[in-house]
Amino acid sequence: MDDCLFCKMVSREIPPDVVYEDDDVLAFRDINPQAPVHVLIIPKRHISTLNDLQAGDAELIGKLHLAAATVAKLEGVDSAGYRTLINCNEEGGQVVFHIHLHLMGARRMGWPPG
Ligand code: 5GP
Ligand code: ZN
Repeated sequence: MDDCLFCKMVSREIPPDVVYEDDDVLAFRDINPQAPVHVLIIPKRHISTLNDLQAGDAELIGKLHLAAATVAKLEGVDSAGYRTLINCNEEGGQVVFHIHLHLMGARRMGWPPG
């Protein structure tokens, strides 16, 4: 997707602050962190929203979560705990329409979220 911000991170047209990367997944620091650790974990292939997932994407979505666990270890928040979430569409709070898993930690998370 030519005009997708996160596709530009994957291509390095815009350089991300990379925390973890493999063949399918890229994880980089959020530009406006909502916690001391705030990492965005994305598939390298463009998928707009959670609603656009197909059955064939099941392995890829699993890999996003495996990457999240790796990022949590790398960032040292795995034992204390952390939160992962995906926002979907406007009322879900989605602003960037390339699916991404937020990983936030290094502070106590409130519930319910705002
Ligand atoms: P959403 O609201 O779509 O779930 O989350 C989008 C996230 O992308 C926000 O947390 C926002 O701070 C982050 N973001 C927006 N623009 C940029 C950018 O240019 N670079 C990085 N690293 N993060 C961004
Ligand atoms: Zn994209």
